[in-house]
Amino acid sequence: MNFSLPPEVTVQSQVLNDGKIYQFHHPTLGLLGRIVLQDNPDGLCHISSEVAGDPNDPMTETRAQIFEPLSQQLCAAVEAALGKGRQTGAGKPNTGISPTAPKERIASQQIPCPKCGEIAALLIFANQAKEIAEMEDCARKTYSIYEELDVVTWIIGATVGTLKGDPIAPILRVWPQRHAIKYGSPKMFDAELNAILPRHCGGRLP
Ligand SMILES: [Zn+2]
Ligand SMILES: [Zn+2]
Repeated sequence: MNFSLPPEVTVQSQVLNDGKIYQFHHPTLGLLGRIVLQDNPDGLCHISSEVAGDPNDPMTETRAQIFEPLSQQLCAAVEAALGKGRQTGAGKPNTGISPTAPKERIASQQIPCPKCGEIAALLIFANQAKEIAEMEDCARKTYSIYEELDVVTWIIGATVGTLKGDPIAPILRVWPQRHAIKYGSPKMFDAELNAILPRHCGGRLP
């Protein structure tokens, strides 16, 4: 097949009983999407491509901007190589038509508003995430949770080092607005959280 990927994009393939899955990863965006080749009983090979992520997630569009040109090229290359087959659903958001990863348990903590007691913040613990891409993968997988809960949400990654004796982890604020990833200690994070919690009821804490 005559096809070359941009240098920053990596691809992993997985063989299925009736086909093959190619997963595309980006160093800072994480999983971009996948292309699934399936042999069907009608003798044709079906090609489908799926951008990773919730269609409502604005990051899905960011991923699509990189993934779609690749997927179109690769689908064309595969079709040319096979001389048959059909492209279906190119670029559509992932609808889980083929084997998906088993559901992971992701730890999270809901923080109540100190004044009214309603849930005011959500912390999601990406306990394995050290790389930016892994943080983004977690943000993608948990999108529907924080969109639904609709409170200020942070994703907190694994400890990557220490600063003045305090453990430092990547922290990504994803809702209601996305912020850039930063690295901080639990102390620094608590200070940020405690500055934001009082906004829930609009006033200052006593
Ligand atoms: Zn068919
Ligand atoms: Zn409140």
